[in-house]
Amino acid sequence: MKVPNSLVQLIRELSRLPGIGPKSAQKLAFYLFEQPKEDIERLVNTLLEAKQDLHLCLRCFNVTDLEVCEVCADPKRDRSQICVVEEPGDLIALERSGEYSGLYHVLHGRLDPMNGVSQDRLYIKPLLERLRDAPQNTEIILATSTTVEGEATSLYLERLLAPLNLHLSRIAYGLPVGGALEYADEVTLGRAMTGRHSLGQKQNRNDSDSGPAGLAVPPR
Ligand code: ZN
Repeated sequence: MKVPNSLVQLIRELSRLPGIGPKSAQKLAFYLFEQPKEDIERLVNTLLEAKQDLHLCLRCFNVTDLEVCEVCADPKRDRSQICVVEEPGDLIALERSGEYSGLYHVLHGRLDPMNGVSQDRLYIKPLLERLRDAPQNTEIILATSTTVEGEATSLYLERLLAPLNLHLSRIAYGLPVGGALEYADEVTLGRAMTGRHSLGQKQNRNDSDSGPAGLAVPPR
């Protein structure tokens, strides 16, 4: 059987989306075909409007429909902290946690030389420019992922930013809430051990009175 050309094209376009393999693309294509024309028009218009309205924040490269994103423009944010993340989605996740009130810098990827992602493909140069005149008490929190590429990116940034004499830190890793130790992989468990902090006394500016699982720990 010859597959209609329009269907082939649709599957091909859908399979270009991240995380969508040929099978999922085929499933999506048939799903879309079955939807009423108005729904398809609405989807297409929403995509076009988003593409037209959204761009990157001039300062932190977060996705925004303003010139400078809401985080950067908020006078209540702590300007002495800049958290470096891979993707805008990571920023949203951190915002949702409610644990951070500083600024961000979005790299839009992570170093991955095997797949052609070198340092000049990421927003690293603008980060350097941004930090050039940063006060000495500025803390740069490297919050790239814990994948091999995320770790390599963090290490690269650590070396690159070291001469600026700012306070560099890496996010702590812990065990998932509700998870038993025996099921954690050794890297997570090792990180949870090395990233441990004293209970009931503040060790450094990053420590809070909360335990890793967000449980209140009474002072001793
Ligand atoms: Zn911004």
